Order: sequence, then C-alpha cells, then structure tokens
Amino acid sequence: MRVYVSENASLRELAEVIEVAQAQAGDPNLVSVEVFDGSLVVKISPVGHPLDTIAFEKLKGVERVEGQAVYSLASGAQARSVVQVPFAGASFGTEQFVVMAGPCAVEKEEDLFHVAREAKRLGARILRGGAFKPRTSPYSFQGLGLEGLELLRRVREEVGIGIVTEAMEPGTVEEVSQVADIVQVGSRNMQNYPLLKAVGRQSKPVLLKRGMSATLEEWLGAAEYILAEGNPNVILCERGIRTFSRHSRHTLDIGVIPAVRERSHLPIVVDPSHATGLSKRVPSMALAALAAGADGLLVEVHPNPNEALSDSFQSLNLEEFGELMEALGKVAGALGRVL
Ligand code: PEP
Ligand code: MN
Repeated sequence: MRVYVSENASLRELAEVIEVAQAQAGDPNLVSVEVFDGSLVVKISPVGHPLDTIAFEKLKGVERVEGQAVYSLASGAQARSVVQVPFAGASFGTEQFVVMAGPCAVEKEEDLFHVAREAKRLGARILRGGAFKPRTSPYSFQGLGLEGLELLRRVREEVGIGIVTEAMEPGTVEEVSQVADIVQVGSRNMQNYPLLKAVGRQSKPVLLKRGMSATLEEWLGAAEYILAEGNPNVILCERGIRTFSRHSRHTLDIGVIPAVRERSHLPIVVDPSHATGLSKRVPSMALAALAAGADGLLVEVHPNPNEALSDSFQSLNLEEFGELMEALGKVAGALGRVL
C-alpha cells in the first residue's frame, strides 16, 4: 500500500504517517519512505492482514492512499503457511512435495480402488477424482455426483488415502466437505464468489485452481474470499492458462510460482495434466514444477486411459505414473525435498 504525502506536509505530519504505518504493519522494517512518480510516499509491504485505509486518510499530511491490496490476508511473503492434511500425512508448504494423483472423474468402483491402492503404493498421499464434473458440453459425462462421493468415502477408509475432490456449487459443499480431505474449486469457478464463500465457511483445506484467464491479482483476490470467511487453509493450483499458443491445451505458467512466493504465504501446487492436455508432456512439466519450487502436484492417472470417460489423452497409466514418481524422487533428493 502506498500513502501519498501532501506536498505541503510538515516534518511532524510526515512522522505521524510513518508512525501509523509502522503500527499497522506491526514491523517497522515493512515500512519505507520513497519517491514514487515524483511524489513522496510511505510504502507498506504486504503484511498478511488487512490495513485500515481510513486511519491514513484522516491524517493531515496524507493526500491519498493507493493500492490497498485486494488480497491483504493472502499477501505477505515473509512467513510461509503450512497446510496440513493429517489423515494423509501431507504438509503443503514444507520440504515435502505432496503428490495427488488419480482419475479425472470417479468412474467404476473397481478402477477407483485399483488406482487408489497403486497410487498409494507408488507414493501419492492423496487421491484425486471428481464426483461433480464441470464439462464444456452438457451432453458429456457429468460425473457420478453423490454416488461418486460415496465411492470416495469408501476408498478413503478402505485404502487409507486422502481425498481431493471438486465442489461445483454452494449447495453441495457440505456433502463434499464431509468426504474430502481437500475441497477443490475448479478453474471455471475461480470467480464464483458464492462458492468461494461457502468453501471458506467449511473446515477442510481448499485447493483453489487458477482461472484459465485469471491474473495473479485476481487469483489471490479469489483466495482472499476463502480466507476472509475464516478458512486459513488455501492451496493455490496452477493448471495452465489460455494464451495464443495452440501447441498444447493450455500454457503452464511455471513463472507464476516465484511470483506467488514474492507476494503470498500460501502454498502452490501444479497440475501438469490440464495444462498440457497430453500425457507424454506431463512428466517434464511435473519435474519442472518441482524444480521451480512448487509444493506439490495434482496429476491425472487412470488404470486404462483409453477408457477414461473424461480427459483420456492427458491421463498417465499406472506404469507411467510409477516412472514419474521415480524421477520425482531423484529430483526431490537433489533439491533437499521429500515426496
Ligand atoms: C479437474 O481437475 O478435474 C478439472 C476439471 O480441472 P480444471 O478446473 O483445472 O479444468
Ligand atoms: Mn480432468
């Protein structure tokens, strides 16, 4: 936030602005006095809590206040938040690189149990799979709905693996939250504010996918909705954005990882499956995500990708997933990370 000091402010009035800024920031090191665009400004770095703009506007030495971050709770790079999923032994935002793997959608019971057991054996801590599917066409498979949730509940208990699954509307958040260890908000719903508020009011961590056309500011603004409702456990998920490039389904924005780190304390994971749209491109992008410092991975794996009812081209088979886990293990080791 920038507080513009009036041209004719006295030294005492300037000192007053600095004093209020330091009190609000809670740390004098986060406050600096600079010349910006020819004006004297008192700048407050992101602090991780909302700032009171009016307290500044009331001061005599202040001309105007700018840039109160739309995401004050999501901001602040000094300390990093850790999001725990105790049931899965997963900690996002630590040296652990948390792998979440599974089919695009919950389909046949037998396939779901098979992929869950294998994913766990190969080192995934969390099983992904949508019961409610946002599809481009209303005639495509829409997911098994509540029946799919029931399968996820059973596989979680019987296999002992964490669950991440999508909630598509406020009305079913409660049901999803009862089964899931992490509630997913999909790319298409990143700016569905009633949904963001609803997942902010339940207690499970939220995986917030980046809207396919969303800027970083908009994404962090969406995270802010969840945090502002009292749920501190938000995990960001980069899943590729829409660009002029036609060589892949979306463009994986690896560069957003350090940009998030500079602005926010929230953990960030990468979904290379929806980003590339092709299974053969998934391993290199997954390794890139780890190397770039991501906190984990969300990857589509199906026991028989050719038969998957959605996203078959981008799903790894179990053998490919095993190879990926081996490669991730090696890179993780070199970087002082663990899977
Ligand atoms: C998904 O992960 O199943 C999904 C639908 O992804 P996205 O919201 O990123 O398109
Ligand atoms: Mn999918």
